Amino acid sequence: MSREQLERAGALPPMGSDDAGCNVLHVDMDAFFAAVELRDRPELRGRPVIVGRRNGRGVVVSATYEARAAGVHSAMPMGTAMRACPAATVIEPSREKYSAASRDVMAILNDVTAYVDEVSIDEAFLDVSGARRTLGSPTQVATEIRTRMKSHLQLPCSVGVGTVTMVAKIASTMAKPDGLLVVPAGDTVRFLHSLPVGRLWGVGSKTVKSLGAIGVYTVADLAALPPTRLAHAVGRAHATRLASLAAGHEVRPIAGRGAEKSIGSEHTFDVDVTSLADLEKSVRLEVEEVARRARSAGLTATTVTVKVRFEDFRTTDRSRTMAAATDSASAIFVVARDLLRQSVTPESSVRLVGVRLSGLAEVSETGHQLSFDSSAEAHTVAEETVDQIVARFGPAALQRASLIRQKE
Ligand SMILES: [Mg+2]
Repeated sequence: MSREQLERAGALPPMGSDDAGCNVLHVDMDAFFAAVELRDRPELRGRPVIVGRRNGRGVVVSATYEARAAGVHSAMPMGTAMRACPAATVIEPSREKYSAASRDVMAILNDVTAYVDEVSIDEAFLDVSGARRTLGSPTQVATEIRTRMKSHLQLPCSVGVGTVTMVAKIASTMAKPDGLLVVPAGDTVRFLHSLPVGRLWGVGSKTVKSLGAIGVYTVADLAALPPTRLAHAVGRAHATRLASLAAGHEVRPIAGRGAEKSIGSEHTFDVDVTSLADLEKSVRLEVEEVARRARSAGLTATTVTVKVRFEDFRTTDRSRTMAAATDSASAIFVVARDLLRQSVTPESSVRLVGVRLSGLAEVSETGHQLSFDSSAEAHTVAEETVDQIVARFGPAALQRASLIRQKE
């Protein structure tokens, strides 16, 4: 559902479109099992389809939106569902198929960032703060994810974008089906306040009832309540958590954040690339990016991986472990260029290149050792200066002449 549709339906307060600081994405596949089944039965597209076992105790595990429109929902007993929507086609669930599709979905997400928190078989939180240079703003990343899910997997998804996980998840739910909703940082509290209190995490029907008894129906009502009254109604611990949720604070940081096992960056070309010189330029850019991120995290790497995806989606990963740990882009590039040259032939038509650093260690552990060439240390000093400029003015402020990408 589009934001305009939600606004017209009165489901959204007036909000801007600025996505600065909205680094959390919640990606949720739409009617996942049913959508996977529709790939094998395209003739059923646009029709009510229910996935579930027809035996006596079977429940609906997934249903297309056409079946939902007739009142069918997940976990509904199959008998009830069939009475609600007699025209529906029933398909027996096949877990193996859904697991395989889930792996494909997560591969697309893990391609975008190393910060993916898989919540269930068909949904995940992503922290996309590191994907800005390669894929753009959070809105652009979300759009790219939706495009890839559709074009590579023929599976629709909805994406919520916000400053914290709960807001992103509420937004993706509101955007369903097949939608994208950004909740700007500056509108987060207003957005939350507009919601019924039951939308907050941890507020079940029992809490809704006890809050209703003291006149609290919306998140705004809850936020306006004196803390002592809230604590009296729901208990002290619960009250503290609800108050932070209502204020838009993060209560569920994305797992893996701060414990990065690798640092990767990649670029998908608008038009497939065949020229080795152009590919090397792109690899150089990815190297600059991962080296910059390693330095800003105070990390060095020992292993460089170059990923190449060809026009037919065949993908190769080539890695090399270096003799010494480094965070120098120049040193990493020497290895990455070599790996690239091993990966492609003059006939190759390349769709994507990526560079990943692993074997990460704190600079203090490795003593910042740089052994590739005598000027490596000078390079590092220059690169640190670059980092400071980029941190202050953004990457557009500085781009080496040789690195100007043809098409950003
Ligand atoms: Mg889902």
